[in-house]
Amino acid sequence: MTQEEKDTEKEEIHLEPSCHNCTMTCVGGKANKKLENCPMIISPDIQKKAREIYAKDEFIKKSTGVASIVEASGYITWPRLKDTIEYAKGMGFKKLGLGFCAGLLDEANKVAEILERYGFEVISTCCKTGGVKKTAVGVPKEFTGLSKTGYPIGFTTCNPIAQALLLNKAKTDLNLIVGLCVGHDVNFTKTSEAPVSTLIAKDRSMPHNPAGVLFTHYGRSFFAKDLADARKAAQKNES
Ligand code: SF4
Repeated sequence: MTQEEKDTEKEEIHLEPSCHNCTMTCVGGKANKKLENCPMIISPDIQKKAREIYAKDEFIKKSTGVASIVEASGYITWPRLKDTIEYAKGMGFKKLGLGFCAGLLDEANKVAEILERYGFEVISTCCKTGGVKKTAVGVPKEFTGLSKTGYPIGFTTCNPIAQALLLNKAKTDLNLIVGLCVGHDVNFTKTSEAPVSTLIAKDRSMPHNPAGVLFTHYGRSFFAKDLADARKAAQKNES
């Protein structure tokens, strides 16, 4: 690489967005004129392209609108599961897929139960489906059986590809990740034909924080009241 090419590459890298360094964060839709790499200033073509996609792509248009309505309707009060339910309802999705971690069977059960109570059909696939050995997919033997931190992790690989393929076969409208490992969630998302949203991000060190609502008094009372309200509203509409 010539010095000129190196300088050009350096320049391009420097001008890539670094919004995390900005103190304005687009407040009021205004660009940060003090940052030379603010993408609102240096990439008007990309901003234009994005606006065109919002206008032309029917799925993106609808998804953006529904997501914004959900945000406005329950901001701060609704747990993520309720956001997901309302997003799926707004999009007209009926059949939901769960790609869940074997270690989160209880959470997957609880999520399915609540989704079914809201009228969705639920299809689910467990990460260990297929019984494929870790070594058969290239995992070094020393990274099987027991974790480096002393926990039993087994010899059977998580199989997010089969999980997604099974949900593809079932023709789900939306797939939800329930505690898949980092990386396995990437493969699941890449293989899924239905759009994917993460409901529970696996983090064993922090009790999968988004799942906290499932086993708390707040979660129980929230859904009990929300379903009661929905039933009351439905009865009112019928009468
Ligand atoms: S787009 Fe511009 S104004 Fe917005 S956060 Fe990034 S640098 Fe800041």
